[in-house]
Amino acid sequence: MRDDDVIGLVVALVVVVIFLAVYIGLIVLGVTIAKRKNRSPHWMWFAIHPLGLLITLIVMASLSPLRRCPQCAQTTQMHARLCPFCGYNFAMPGAFAPQQQPVYIPPQRY
Ligand SMILES: [Zn+2]
Repeated sequence: MRDDDVIGLVVALVVVVIFLAVYIGLIVLGVTIAKRKNRSPHWMWFAIHPLGLLITLIVMASLSPLRRCPQCAQTTQMHARLCPFCGYNFAMPGAFAPQQQPVYIPPQRY
């Protein structure tokens, strides 16, 4: 093996390592953006394909953030005043509006 071959191999290895580091760094960036916006980080599985990485990063950066309910941990739109799942009031956390529970009314007997 000549010295030129060794240098070429080392250069190719360095290029591959830099490419993988940038690729994984972009995936980590996408997961970080998703978590900051309360979106599912599992969307970044599309990043297995380089085109999927590009599209998922653009979509994730342009999506609006979601608000997580402190009562039931479900996510809803940022502008929502009440949690659609449990009725938690985001504007006044003390004023809890519980869901309407069905009430059984026994039939009247005369
Ligand atoms: Zn809730």
